[in-house]
Amino acid sequence: MTMKVLKNARLIDGTGVAPAIATIVIRDERIDAISSKSQADLPADAEIIDCAGMTVLPGLIDCHDHMANHRYDLAHRWGIDEPHSTRHLRTAAVLRQTLEAGYTMIRDAGGLDAGFKRAIEEGLAVGPRLMLSISIVSPIGGIGDAMSPSGDCCCVLGDPLLPSGVVETLADVRPVVRRMVRAGADFIKCATTGGASSRPGHGPRDGAFNLDEMQALVEEAHALGRRVMCHALGGRGLDIAIEAGVDSIEHGCYLDEDPRHLDMMAARGIVFVPTLLVYEFHRKSPQPHVRERAQDLFEHHVRAIQQALKAGVKIVAGTDAGGHGHPANAGELDCLVQAGMTPMQAIQAATHWAAECCGRDADLGTAEKGKLADLVVVDGDPLADISVLRDAKNIALVLKGGEIAANRMGAR
Ligand SMILES: [Zn+2]
Repeated sequence: MTMKVLKNARLIDGTGVAPAIATIVIRDERIDAISSKSQADLPADAEIIDCAGMTVLPGLIDCHDHMANHRYDLAHRWGIDEPHSTRHLRTAAVLRQTLEAGYTMIRDAGGLDAGFKRAIEEGLAVGPRLMLSISIVSPIGGIGDAMSPSGDCCCVLGDPLLPSGVVETLADVRPVVRRMVRAGADFIKCATTGGASSRPGHGPRDGAFNLDEMQALVEEAHALGRRVMCHALGGRGLDIAIEAGVDSIEHGCYLDEDPRHLDMMAARGIVFVPTLLVYEFHRKSPQPHVRERAQDLFEHHVRAIQQALKAGVKIVAGTDAGGHGHPANAGELDCLVQAGMTPMQAIQAATHWAAECCGRDADLGTAEKGKLADLVVVDGDPLADISVLRDAKNIALVLKGGEIAANRMGAR
């Protein structure tokens, strides 16, 4: 048995209550006790870590990331710009860097195969806890369909670790979902619209999937115990996703356009994962069609967040990192605060609410007795300035399941 104690910590526990000075006792992988008094009866072999002047948060969670993607260009999307081994090692480096920045869980929105999760669990690689979706499920021409710029098929052989998510007919929907689950998907990621960065002709309000196909997808995923995360920006595709009863709307840029959408999401407990950070990148894209789409949707997106807060829809943090590289995941929290959330709400969006979105809130997302000891010690006050979380230099200590994953305490 190992015991660690974080003392004099200013604790933001993720539940939304105001911060308080606390002593946190960690026994093996879980939080054993949290008290407002400094405890005197600790065993002599307990490792005491003095957090005076620092803030402790639950481990941060990004609910929309593409850990195995590193650029948007076609050669990279097809996996022909560098050897696969080089790409895997690049992904492994990003996984480590992400954990060291305080992110103890990532929900991958497509592209990361189950081998990375296994390697981390076996201790072969260092990284966050992973929730996987494997490949994006969409119809022919949807965002999960790799094709050449002329609209012809992609000539590259697929990776057997990443089964194809292309659905040709209604009858294909259930087998494709089952194939994702067989390959290790914890979630089913699908898409009912194009996006900012998708090919010309398949934009944010252009649909993919019919209602009957989406109903089959949701029904099959739920029958297999998997939630559905759906890329949907606007128009009829957004309508279909909500109507079919997906569990989260990813991006949701035009949710401000039809008030019924947010009301239905609130009534059905559908989560909103806006992924603001990626659109910051797209607004400066060298590709004119991407830049125009991102500029057009920006005001709608901010309004959608403000209306979602009023409607009682839960908003969760996700960066959609990958194509735009892997900048600090906590940049999303800056964007959420700029869009109208309080710093406390933004922290909950990346801790408690994110763990709920992942179905892991029994173990993760808050710092409470009995939960897994995924904790981040921050040199600074994120309630006064949310951007302190963005700079890895301020992340003094990262614990994942009670184990030290990064330690810069000595450097200060
Ligand atoms: Zn994405």
